[in-house]
Amino acid sequence: MSQQDAHEIGQFYDNVTDPYVQAWDGNLHMGYWESATAAPSIDAATERLTSEVIGRLGVAPGGRVIDVGCGIGKPALRLAREHKVDVVGVSISEQQIEIARASVVSVPLPTQVSFQTADAMDLPFPASAFDAGLCLEALHHMPDRPKALREIARVVRPGGPVVIADFALRGPVPEEHRELVERFAQACNLVTLTEIGPYTAEFTAAGLDLTDVVDVSDNVRPSMAQHAEAIRSARDRLGPIVGVERLDQMVDLTERFGVLSQFGYVILVGTRA
Ligand code: SAH
Repeated sequence: MSQQDAHEIGQFYDNVTDPYVQAWDGNLHMGYWESATAAPSIDAATERLTSEVIGRLGVAPGGRVIDVGCGIGKPALRLAREHKVDVVGVSISEQQIEIARASVVSVPLPTQVSFQTADAMDLPFPASAFDAGLCLEALHHMPDRPKALREIARVVRPGGPVVIADFALRGPVPEEHRELVERFAQACNLVTLTEIGPYTAEFTAAGLDLTDVVDVSDNVRPSMAQHAEAIRSARDRLGPIVGVERLDQMVDLTERFGVLSQFGYVILVGTRA
């Protein structure tokens, strides 16, 4: 995928963010379920995943954090509120940045939060500009994930914590499921989807010391069916935007990928070397 395609993903999000937020939640990420039978609301489940991720960042109050692929800023605002840090959120989608900026003015915050449009593979910040880096469910959109990881490492100061949460494969996909996984990835813009091993290798190669790999696949797995259902129920609004055929594929493939044993979701925790 070329650089141009990164902007196509931005345009995709420009178009879908409003109806998507109505169908799912302002956290543009999966949810975390305590068990397969737990039944929290989507909002509670997505907030719980935010907690699992930002709770591992370990950034001191007063620090400055970059949130790469920030969506409409819901995780960034929580991070600022609860950890008393300044946050700069970046997204490739201009529409999301507008929504995120509007939400900042509507909530009183003890710290500074700002949002700007930027490409994660070419961050417009000097080296060591931040005390910590966060990337919640966005790196799978990167045509050049190693480059995005190097950019995160570059803009975080040495010793600063970095937490990444993302889809990954828990093991090699058997031949009979390969087409399903490829079609899922294509329909849902997962430009880069690999096993956990190569992901952690890229993390380390980017100049980040890996301290923990938290496999939350089983906690996130219930999201897939819930997400498919949410998209299906918003078919009237989302269909004309993404195309009805593609939308139906997204629903079907999300459900089918979600039950494969190779479905995975990890939180990578580390520090800038
Ligand atoms: N972290 C947010 C949003 C996750 S959705 C949340 O949890 O709510 C994925 C995000 O990655 C979107 O905001 C999308 O615009 C962003 N994104 C995708 N490709 C990007 C790129 N090349 N550079 C920056 N952001 C990108």
